[in-house]
Amino acid sequence: MSTPNFGQPDRVVIVGGGPGGYEAALVAAQLGATVTVVDSDGLGGSAVVTDCVPSKTLIATAELMTDLSGAPELGVSFEDHEGDSADHVVVDLDRVNRRVMKLAADQSADIGRRLEREGVRVVRGFGRLDGTDRVVVELTEGGTETIEADAVLLATGAAPRTLPTAEPDGERILTWEQVYDLTEAPSRLIVVGSGVTGAEFASAYMSLGIEVVLVSSRDRVLPGEDADAATVLEDVLKRRGMEVLSKSRMESVTRAGDEVTVTLTDGRTVQGSHCLLALGSVPKTAELGLETAGVVLDEGGFVRVDRVSRTSARGVYAAGDCTGVLMLASVAAMQGRIAMWHFLGDAVTPLDLKQVSSNVFTAPEIATVGWQQKAIDAGEIPAETVRLDLAGNPRAKMQGVHDGFVKLFCRPGTGIIIGGVVVGPRASELVHPISIAVAESLTVDQMAHAFTVYPSMSGSIAEAARRLHHGPT
Ligand SMILES: Cc1cc2nc3c(=O)[nH]c(=O)nc-3n(C[C@H](O)[C@H](O)[C@H](O)COP(=O)(O)OP(=O)(O)OC[C@H]3O[C@@H](n4cnc5c(N)ncnc54)[C@H](O)[C@@H]3O)c2cc1C
Repeated sequence: MSTPNFGQPDRVVIVGGGPGGYEAALVAAQLGATVTVVDSDGLGGSAVVTDCVPSKTLIATAELMTDLSGAPELGVSFEDHEGDSADHVVVDLDRVNRRVMKLAADQSADIGRRLEREGVRVVRGFGRLDGTDRVVVELTEGGTETIEADAVLLATGAAPRTLPTAEPDGERILTWEQVYDLTEAPSRLIVVGSGVTGAEFASAYMSLGIEVVLVSSRDRVLPGEDADAATVLEDVLKRRGMEVLSKSRMESVTRAGDEVTVTLTDGRTVQGSHCLLALGSVPKTAELGLETAGVVLDEGGFVRVDRVSRTSARGVYAAGDCTGVLMLASVAAMQGRIAMWHFLGDAVTPLDLKQVSSNVFTAPEIATVGWQQKAIDAGEIPAETVRLDLAGNPRAKMQGVHDGFVKLFCRPGTGIIIGGVVVGPRASELVHPISIAVAESLTVDQMAHAFTVYPSMSGSIAEAARRLHHGPT
């Protein structure tokens, strides 16, 4: 039993300092709790230290390179310092990686300062439950500390999945956490896995001027995304020179000197200088003492939670990748906040995945929100659909944007917008009006009546909404 805490602020202990953990800590501190965050690998978690922030910083350089590749069409050419024409721009991957790691470290430090300002105590070490109301920490500096808790939030995240037949060596066979140690650009990079992470890295490294082979076990890239969007992306990747091996399942990855070989299950082999494994993630839920508290896991090892982030154990909540609900930093943060609002008695709305907007940071980007085509085609919800290619948009023409589209889904009859897809440059920014429409149940007419700037890409969203208008019958 923990020491009773009558009349004192609630004691919240958060295990894991990623977005699931630190955003919850800020809410709990705001609501007057005494908050401790236990973190083993750096505040900000994988999101800031190894995954989201580093990859999007790398992709910022890739985006610049993609923009530059369109320069000739817009009348711009490059010269070397002697005035001779130069046809390509080079990337210094070492400098890019150093920028990436500095930016990630700075952001982690920012989070630390913010938590300190809000009065949150941060304990460096590996935490595990001892029952439902006590967390025991193996301190990084040595020794252990036991922290009493009125509520515990587990936000321990996930790690890259590896296979015994494809062990990363950190030099040429790499997980996404290890790519920033590269000081020289790979001469030929094989990316295994064509989900979001594999597609993002493959697209980015190709934009950086590296030869890329993408090994995809499915018949097209991004099997979880809108099929039309994935087709546009795959066409663009191939047109820009990527070799995409579809229906090709990796059996093993081996290294001999400077060469890696990916062997496929049908016996074919692919050679390259480096291999990046993007095989998905596994939850970090082992050795957390979950059994001592009665926290139930699902068959994949993820913590089972309800829509207010409660686990099966009273007073123990979980948020983020360790729950496997939807592996996004934004969802982790919201699950963490919801847990604290719930525990500390504030107004709380259960998590609604149909309101989550997400983006694949490839070139072009693919942003989605709400109901999607697959569910509509499967008859899960009736909807009217419109697809408008960006090629017809005046701003797109001016900017030399040829690929991409806007799709809107609305309820038949009412015209209420229930979802959408944007494929194009900076789709992550363009999807926001659709997110607002979905969150606020706006109709296509309301969307269409709002002014858009002329010329603008967002004009295509308003135009798509106009196309779904039904006149008086
Ligand atoms: C390459 C890549 C790119 C991504 N890009 C995006 C993106 O652009 N946008 C987006 O929304 N999402 C993105 N994601 C997903 C996002 O990174 C995760 O959803 C997010 O990190 C989950 O947050 P979390 O708090 O659950 O876990 P994490 O961020 O993994 O943080 C968990 C923290 O807890 C620590 N920890 C684990 N066990 C313990 C323990 N026992 N004691 C103490 N500390 C512990 C971990 O070391 C870690 O620091 C990306 C993922 C990958 C792989």
